[in-house]
Amino acid sequence: MCEEVLPDLFRIKIPLPDSPLRHLNSYIIRDSARSLIVDAGLNRKACLEAMQRALNSLEMDLSKTDIFITHRHIDHFGLVPKLVTDSTRIFMGRTDKMLLESWKGIGAIAAYARQNGFPENELKAVFDKHPAAQFDLGWIAQSKALDDGDALKIGGYNFRCVATPGHTVGHTCLYEPAKKIMLAGDHILMDITPNIVCWSEAENPLKLFLASLDKVEKLKVDLVLPGHRRLIDRPGDRIEELKKHHARRLAEVLCILNGCSMSAFQIASNMTWDFVSESWDQFPATQKWFATGEAISHIRYLERAGRLVQKTEKKIIKFNIRK
Ligand SMILES: [Zn+2]
Repeated sequence: MCEEVLPDLFRIKIPLPDSPLRHLNSYIIRDSARSLIVDAGLNRKACLEAMQRALNSLEMDLSKTDIFITHRHIDHFGLVPKLVTDSTRIFMGRTDKMLLESWKGIGAIAAYARQNGFPENELKAVFDKHPAAQFDLGWIAQSKALDDGDALKIGGYNFRCVATPGHTVGHTCLYEPAKKIMLAGDHILMDITPNIVCWSEAENPLKLFLASLDKVEKLKVDLVLPGHRRLIDRPGDRIEELKKHHARRLAEVLCILNGCSMSAFQIASNMTWDFVSESWDQFPATQKWFATGEAISHIRYLERAGRLVQKTEKKIIKFNIRK
């Protein structure tokens, strides 16, 4: 499906088979000199076919097309190697580009998950099923790094890069001030909340995410073009909802701990989740994985705010409320 959202700006719904996200919104900004594709989908047949149908119907010439990747998640860039030509320029926020290029595999993340109580027998299931492991083409980055404030002009659109760390630390949106639109990747989503996960001791992604929401809230935006689900025509309202959602989650973590000492995995198992499943034990390993990553991002926020303390017992990190 190819929908003209604004003159020469099209949304392509790229199917994401087996994913609760359902599809990725790829955007094409068409111009006679050079066009731009924003985000692309996975390296899967269904994604490539949907993209090719759209490119054909828009009579796009890939040798005169560049690609912007909002962030380093595989559902946004996995298909890129199938679209590049010798003349394609690939743009990406500097930090995500650096992280993608220096990626050394899942080892450190798996070790941190174990320390946070994630069961060994479920780790394997997570990594076997993770789309990043299944459909990675072996990304060879020859991308150009963009920084906050950098300009990108395509046809009548004068975009400005807005660094929005949180969902990933190098997440970058494209803002068009004159048209009051923002191509927002996974920074602001409707119906679902952007996944904010933390898999290292050094990071505090929820703090970054909330600061990025404040930053975007100050910009004049009438329409957000997100990376998944519907377009958002009242972004201010949605930003407020997202802030409230995380405030509720932070309160929930404190309520669950209530004087007890728990691992992040135990805390996650007591939080409320929208997954269609009877109980935590029946959640698929992948959902427990995302839930634990989300729990850690809230725990870390509280810890850095001085509300929680951690103590390692028998190699497992346990959290408690600071007295
Ligand atoms: Zn993402």
